[in-house]
Amino acid sequence: MKRIYLDHAATTAVDSEVMQAMAPYFAEAFGNASSLHSFGKDASYALGAARQAVADALGADTGEIFFTSGGTESDNLALKGVMMSGQAGRGHIITSTIEHPAILNTCKYLESAGHGCDVTYIPVGSDGIVDPGDVADAIRDDTKLISIMHANNEIGTIQPIARIGAIARKNGVLFHTDAVQSFGKLEIDLRKIPVDMLSLSSHKIYGPKGVGALYVRDGVEIAPLMHGGGHESGLRAGTENVAGIVGFAKAVTLSIERFAPDCAHLTKLRDMLITGTIDAIDDVHLNGHPTERLPNNANLRFDFVEGEAMLLHLDVKGIAVSTGSACSSASSEPSHVLLELGLAPNEIYGSIRFTLGRENTEEEVLYVLDVLPEIVGKLRAISPIAGGKR
Ligand code: PLP
Repeated sequence: MKRIYLDHAATTAVDSEVMQAMAPYFAEAFGNASSLHSFGKDASYALGAARQAVADALGADTGEIFFTSGGTESDNLALKGVMMSGQAGRGHIITSTIEHPAILNTCKYLESAGHGCDVTYIPVGSDGIVDPGDVADAIRDDTKLISIMHANNEIGTIQPIARIGAIARKNGVLFHTDAVQSFGKLEIDLRKIPVDMLSLSSHKIYGPKGVGALYVRDGVEIAPLMHGGGHESGLRAGTENVAGIVGFAKAVTLSIERFAPDCAHLTKLRDMLITGTIDAIDDVHLNGHPTERLPNNANLRFDFVEGEAMLLHLDVKGIAVSTGSACSSASSEPSHVLLELGLAPNEIYGSIRFTLGRENTEEEVLYVLDVLPEIVGKLRAISPIAGGKR
């Protein structure tokens, strides 16, 4: 059976060019980048080239790129690193209610007894967008950090980070953005936007899992979370994952090279999927903003249908989708992001996230559009609340 992967916000397949780039660093150039001999030098050279590639892609300097184990660690390092540096453990953070758990749970930790930070969670409108005016109003004398994601992982909504960054800068507050979902799909040039810290993850951009980076603007002081050797300029101790970092950097470079065709392709497929579904099936709605959304995200709400049942029926047809973020779909709690849009639990449970990727084709989208009406019809037929709707 043909299998169609439409869950690229959860993770992506590793690109063959990325695998090729990584291959020598497992058994040939396996040295420890801190070693002084030629094996170490080879690894250290590869790390330097990777750092240069990531810096070039962002419009940053190499000294501003710190490799981590991925988006979660980068988010933790940004938030805890700022709040634990200087007057450690005191101060105020502003974030949004629809951030990824890597931000929200880090904020909860920093609020907990012993850390004594205070956090303001800015709500979003029903379209999932943060109002920069709300961020400005929340700034206090003790605000140290604003963290607002670039694009949401569930509904794909794009936040006005240039405006929020400008507000932060004007008020002398640091600004962090989680760009894990947006990199490669939205333009990011750190020479143009006032961002002080930015998180990236490799496995969302056709690189290997377990690697990512935090950009930290020159002059921003943050405390390390890992203590040990002086790796990553003392900010992240631990022998570097050279093969992973090389793969990540290759994935970053490919994302930049393929940016325009990727975005055009994804947007076309996304719009086909959204309009095709809404035209073919009654009582289907788009979650999130209609235009300010990632080119690969279609989060659709099917009235009178249980999303998990739909996911399983689609899986039987070879189509992989998600009912929430990969991190929360294992729990039966309704998505906090969809709750924040003001949706009722039954609307949330009828929502499906389709996230397209570089390798998806028009034929695949047509196949999805072909099987969806039948699945929705079947599920509505057995739904006690559908009232005969198909
Ligand atoms: N931030 C966002 C917006 C994400 O979507 C994810 C992963 O789903 C993460 C952070 C965590 O990244 P990682 O899986 O690399 O830890």
